Amino acid sequence: MCRRRGRTEMSYTERAAADMRNWNAAKIFSYKEIKTATNNFKEVIGHGSFGSVYLGKLPDGKLVAVKVRFDKTQLGADSFINEVRLLSLVRHQNLVSLEGFCHESQRQILVYEYLPGGSLADHLYGPNSRKFSLSWVRRLKIAVDAAKGLDYLHNGSDPRIIHRDIKCSNILLDKEMNARLCDFGLSKQMIQPDATHVTTVVKGTAGYLDPEYYSTQQLTEKSDVYSFGVLLLELICGREPMNHSGTPDSFNLVLWAKPYLQAGAFEIVDESLGGNFDVESMRKVAKIAVRSVERDASQRPTIAQILSVLKESYSIQLSYLAASGHVN
Ligand code: ATP
Repeated sequence: MCRRRGRTEMSYTERAAADMRNWNAAKIFSYKEIKTATNNFKEVIGHGSFGSVYLGKLPDGKLVAVKVRFDKTQLGADSFINEVRLLSLVRHQNLVSLEGFCHESQRQILVYEYLPGGSLADHLYGPNSRKFSLSWVRRLKIAVDAAKGLDYLHNGSDPRIIHRDIKCSNILLDKEMNARLCDFGLSKQMIQPDATHVTTVVKGTAGYLDPEYYSTQQLTEKSDVYSFGVLLLELICGREPMNHSGTPDSFNLVLWAKPYLQAGAFEIVDESLGGNFDVESMRKVAKIAVRSVERDASQRPTIAQILSVLKESYSIQLSYLAASGHVN
């Protein structure tokens, strides 16, 4: 029986591989190719909850990020290949693309395009935090890029995809500081065209998790909107969603920031911005951020609405800089 099952899995994998070639989708790498590309897993560029990430170089010179999943986070062979096949078809300038994968000898490895600028989390909070170089206009550009990526997942891709783990470590930057969302899709639910929600086991990251999804386990696009709202609050305040070192009332960013921002009290705006922002631009982002983290999901805006406000705030800030003679 085991032999038969092995044979079935093999032929399924082979079929999927042939299928993917026909679709001109992600490349299938052998484990040997992965070892060569990563120089035997020499350079670790990050660690996530699914495993380590290594720098790799493909034969054509293209740099890639190679994610090796821990055994316990592996999916069944069929779902891994199915999901990878779907994800490899999702292409957008604000989404990190999946270049290929390796599914060999019980290993599940994903190969993504490499983004050299680090994550937004590295910039805001990393050991060599470059927070001071993140001016308001740069933050707005990053938010616009990330919102475009999420809008594509919610409204442009087929099937629609709920990201489920929007957070600043999942926003990566290229060398020109353009932002792309990563980590979407895998082992996350894809929605059927006519479904309003999916029921799932709650997954996500503390501090970003939609309280309504947490209590009902019903996942909709509005759960991503909640997390995106938290991200906007981080960009405004320059602090993490959970602050273990502060006073008890400042522990949770949402609970702490909401009353200030609702009252238009901008003393909680990140000091490292040095006050270099247009008040109207800030007010618009603060307002949409507060609406995005409403407890009642039906009161939250859609990502398309958020994107439109962010674009407006971005152009207001650009005009402010031009008028005041600042570069950024
Ligand atoms: P979690 O697994 O809990 O979502 P995470 O998003 O930080 O956390 P990973 O997606 O595995 O985990 O990534 C870990 C780190 O590896 C990232 O923070 C980033 O610094 C780096 N990294 C991941 N993907 C890429 C990529 N495509 N290009 C460059 N660096 C990357």
